[in-house]
Amino acid sequence: MLTTEKKEFWFVVGSQHLYGEEALAEVKVHAQKITDALNESGFLPYPLVLQNLAVSADKITSIMKEVNYRDEVAGVITWMHTFSPAKMWIRGTKLLQKPLLHLATQFNESIPWATIDMDFMNLNQSAHGDREYGFINARLKKQNKVVVGYWERHEVRQQIAQWMDVAVAYNESFNIKVARFGDNMRNVGVTEGDKVEAQIQFGWTVDYFGIGDLVQYVNAVNDEEIDALFAEYEGLYEFDYGTNSREDWEKSVKVQVSYEIAIKRILDDGGYTAFTTNFEDLYGMKQLPGLAVQRLMAQGYGFAGEGDWKTAALDRLLKVMSHNQSTGFMEDYTYELAAGQESILQSHMLEVDPSLASNKPKIVVSPLGIGNREDPARLVFDGKAGDGVVVSMADFGTNYKLLINEVSAFEPTVPSPNLPVARVLWEVKPNFQDGVKAWLENGGGHHTVVSLNLTTDQIITYAKLVGLEYVVIK
Ligand code: MN
Repeated sequence: MLTTEKKEFWFVVGSQHLYGEEALAEVKVHAQKITDALNESGFLPYPLVLQNLAVSADKITSIMKEVNYRDEVAGVITWMHTFSPAKMWIRGTKLLQKPLLHLATQFNESIPWATIDMDFMNLNQSAHGDREYGFINARLKKQNKVVVGYWERHEVRQQIAQWMDVAVAYNESFNIKVARFGDNMRNVGVTEGDKVEAQIQFGWTVDYFGIGDLVQYVNAVNDEEIDALFAEYEGLYEFDYGTNSREDWEKSVKVQVSYEIAIKRILDDGGYTAFTTNFEDLYGMKQLPGLAVQRLMAQGYGFAGEGDWKTAALDRLLKVMSHNQSTGFMEDYTYELAAGQESILQSHMLEVDPSLASNKPKIVVSPLGIGNREDPARLVFDGKAGDGVVVSMADFGTNYKLLINEVSAFEPTVPSPNLPVARVLWEVKPNFQDGVKAWLENGGGHHTVVSLNLTTDQIITYAKLVGLEYVVIK
């Protein structure tokens, strides 16, 4: 997987001097125990690093400035051990430019009725501190996440882990660079958008390359490189020669191998983490990149077809968020309308993401009705089953809007011998009629990113962080 820089999160524990140094020493011990327990739980995808206690405005401000400055720090988790007067938090919180999670927990789980006294209450007053701190975050309109519950609970740790993944994706959003090989498909509306606004709002850089730039890279790939990468395919995929001779099949697949090497090289040379192609813009190319695109998606590069840079960037973003698990570019294609079986087939032309494969993909060389080029090689497989989210993003002129639909994917049970593409099928929530209707009424596009790994809540958390309007259909 195309990885991001090493990341960590800072744990900032709020208290104050009111209860004396002895109490603060105790706060420190509690904070260290929670930090260690969370790190050792195996739940968190990134380490949590405990900072000095937040007991004054100056301390808090200097911590937050440091967070902004350090690239390896993806966000801040705060815990109000004690009542920590919120005016102390204003400056630092306002300066903080990274995601913030308020963990509403308490060191002690249960109230010890037989022994409880005022000393105990002073050291277990998160209910008190949470409210003071929550007030100032709300007043500052900080789009912080709040996770509530005992810190040893599985569901609390899971929520922290999911938020960490969103926070890292948010940081990565500002590093997403999309290389567009060719422009948008002619006449298509939904793939257009304001690139300057996308860079201002989401941090995405979108650059155009003429197809000739890619052709030059393709021509520079040598036979040894092609043979070496082709040899790697042998262990990974089934080779399905179909009606082709083995020789023709191999020749065709090796064209895609050269595309994979060339595209990866041009992306890596320029620091690009996502890309688009356009079947109308293939001058000098023998095939539409199919297998090559699928292989790069599997490595974590974002992609969308037909010049759709928004979906390509979104794909990269959600791949980072999901650690590239079961997440990829999709195209709504064919309805199943039989009563009780209503669903949508997502198979499209070639570029279905193998991170969604439920079986070992096979490499097939088959004609393609568009692009007017040689038969391109592609990976064919069935999609995984599972619940997930499908997300589409469109430019509505005055603002970008995100559509989020919850779906249930299932594996196709009937063979389709004449369909030489990967098959992904799903039912939409809450039901076919209402789900599809809401999608269309809200202007959701046919290009989407689906994830069977992420939750609606994670997508919303990101949308709030970047001030992106969203609609949830579930
Ligand atoms: Mn399309």
